[in-house]
Amino acid sequence: MPEGRCSYCSKIEECKTCGSRVESFRHVGVRASGDYHSAIWHYAYPCGHRNDIAMSKETGAHPAAKLAVYNGGPVWKDGYQWVNIFWGAYWTNQPWVQFIDRAVADIEMNQSYSGGLKQYDVGQGSLKSHVIIQQDPPSTVSNQDIGGSIVSWIKSGIVPDLGVKGAYNVFLPPGITATLGTDSSCSVFCDYHDSGNGNNGPFFTCEPYPCSTGCNQCTSSSFDTMTQGLSEEMVELKTDMNPGTGWVIGNEEICDYCDTHFVCNKISTGEYVNAWYSDAAGACWKS
Ligand SMILES: [Zn+2]
Ligand SMILES: [Zn+2]
Repeated sequence: MPEGRCSYCSKIEECKTCGSRVESFRHVGVRASGDYHSAIWHYAYPCGHRNDIAMSKETGAHPAAKLAVYNGGPVWKDGYQWVNIFWGAYWTNQPWVQFIDRAVADIEMNQSYSGGLKQYDVGQGSLKSHVIIQQDPPSTVSNQDIGGSIVSWIKSGIVPDLGVKGAYNVFLPPGITATLGTDSSCSVFCDYHDSGNGNNGPFFTCEPYPCSTGCNQCTSSSFDTMTQGLSEEMVELKTDMNPGTGWVIGNEEICDYCDTHFVCNKISTGEYVNAWYSDAAGACWKS
């Protein structure tokens, strides 16, 4: 729900930062960096400031109770497709393009990690050929820029139109900052997923070039930083394609919840992945 209200923001009428009137909120699924908290972040419209939402997480009072709640929005089905979009001439002949393609396919095909999401009625799809956008992005790229750019790339035939049956992973080159409202990648967040237009998509994850600090608690490899973020955003997009309308735990998505007691995990093909919460197991996913 890019511009709308959920149960956590339905009563907020003034921006907590600037005091101006809030017409609605844009909801974005964000993996925070450093000390910030991964959750569904709320950006006030029209001022654009992030408003922090109080958490009301159920914490173990009823161990048998299911934590995840489904709000009725679109979720990923069998046969849906990913397209990796590498934005900028930097990516031409970069070995990372193949490594990232392989990681996306491995994460999507993994029977335990992605296959386990069947408990949420979420299917498994496949990876189409990647696209390299030769025109460089501007030095800062907002979520609105990405949604709008995907639509224009589809119109000009550069990028395939997945409709609502798939999503795009958008990779930014080194030195480019992703922004959400007045927030910048690496200073407060690592990566995110969003929709260009609510339930209609296009649905996308945004992976800025890996941050040097704050986004990898497991290794010093920037590729591992990438797959940790990518796995989390892929899972959260699949289970909550339009942030906040799918499977959530309070104001968090199902990987955000597992960041609280973070454990380093790899899938069988070797990529580091972030865990998601399994209601069936009553625990976060483990390799
Ligand atoms: Zn909300
Ligand atoms: Zn404001």
